[in-house]
Amino acid sequence: MNVVVIGAGISGLIAAYELERAGIKPILLEASDRVGGRVATDEVDGFLLDRGFQVLLTAYPEARRYLDFEVLKLKKFYPGALILKPGGSFAISDPLRNPSEVFGMVFSPVGSLFDKLKIYKLTKALQKKQIDDIFNSPNISTIQFLRDYGFSEKIITNFFKPFFKGIFLENELKTSARMFQFVFKMFGEGFAAVPENGMQAIPDYLKSKLEHTELRLNTPVTKVEGHQVFLKNREILQADKIIITGKPDHLLQQLKGQINPYHSVFNLYFSLEKSFLARPMIGLVPDDKFLINNIVFMTDVSKTYSKKGKALLSVSVVRDVETPENLEKLVALELEAISGIKAEFFKHVKTYEIKEALPDVEEMKADLAFTNTKIHDHIFLAGDYLLNGSFNAAMTSGRKAVEALLLTIQEPH
Ligand SMILES: Cc1cc2nc3c(=O)[nH]c(=O)nc-3n(C[C@H](O)[C@H](O)[C@H](O)COP(=O)(O)OP(=O)(O)OC[C@H]3O[C@@H](n4cnc5c(N)ncnc54)[C@H](O)[C@@H]3O)c2cc1C
Repeated sequence: MNVVVIGAGISGLIAAYELERAGIKPILLEASDRVGGRVATDEVDGFLLDRGFQVLLTAYPEARRYLDFEVLKLKKFYPGALILKPGGSFAISDPLRNPSEVFGMVFSPVGSLFDKLKIYKLTKALQKKQIDDIFNSPNISTIQFLRDYGFSEKIITNFFKPFFKGIFLENELKTSARMFQFVFKMFGEGFAAVPENGMQAIPDYLKSKLEHTELRLNTPVTKVEGHQVFLKNREILQADKIIITGKPDHLLQQLKGQINPYHSVFNLYFSLEKSFLARPMIGLVPDDKFLINNIVFMTDVSKTYSKKGKALLSVSVVRDVETPENLEKLVALELEAISGIKAEFFKHVKTYEIKEALPDVEEMKADLAFTNTKIHDHIFLAGDYLLNGSFNAAMTSGRKAVEALLLTIQEPH
């Protein structure tokens, strides 16, 4: 059986792994020079820079199925968040994992006592709710869900908005409440973490599990027609079955214009002598006038992110509008306002503009029906955009594409 998988992102790596488990030796074609797709880490000036701030949630069922957290040497974030405002900052001590701690914050200006009770109630309710039930719940926006649930505007502005803007990469919390509940549940049941040596360690680990896959890097595919896979180097591969991962609209004529747009983000890195956040926590900037949405000292989480002993700060700017030309300077000035440390001490390392970061999925799902992944008897789709923008979804989609493919082999013709 001659199977070609296009794209060695998370979904393609899982697809290749599952094909191997079924006794198939696939060819895995990747356009770039590395595996991982949107999960990548660059080494720049002695710093490890993830391309876009992202975390692995250890409670993801698919991550537990496919990853070895020990081998990845996961470094955990301290649960909760720090709310950063000019002239002061205050911690939300673990509102997600240990809701009882929130009661200690009765006098904090984060939200009302009712809000804290509601966070507790929601966490408890989601612990009991199955993931499938979450994704079958009404497809309303996150902001509507929070208001319907009775949260005050104060806690929405101070905590929920910046926290989930940083996750959904959009400003209005229009993203489905299904995704909100799923992520909230995952935060409550595990940890946010990064591998000691950067996010690239995740796809590298998945690659290391492949024993019978022919991986071809630097091999862009230009089109798929019938059973033929056309490569940019003019080679044509004949395949019995084809799995297309990532956005497929540039490969298949029939899907042109059918894939939803993506949310984008700017991720800026600065170095500083030392961290100004007390713990390895996500810092949130709730003030809408600021460009910055969230910051993290990656070196507070894993020292390995800096080879020179300096602190490495990751800043996310979530904007739907044109970004000013002097973004680095403006962000450094905002960092000064937040920390009291002069802007000139924040040394800019690199800025990433990630235009296609997260798919804007209208009907967020947890799982895929075979009919959603099979588009011909021999062509199958995988990728997070089919479900929701997450590692968990990318992994599920890779597995489901292979299950659908195997069914077509077993079916009598
Ligand atoms: C900034 C950012 C933050 C994120 N934060 C989180 C987070 O905190 N938690 C979380 O769970 N998820 C997060 N995600 C989402 C997560 O990274 C993705 O859901 C996941 O990596 C998607 O994997 P994929 O295989 O579906 O797609 P991709 O990673 O896009 O993989 C597709 C692959 O196909 C290759 N390819 C495309 N076209 C061709 C072609 N013609 N020929 C050959 N190869 C081709 C590409 O080069 C790529 O390697 C984040 C993503 C970004 C970008």
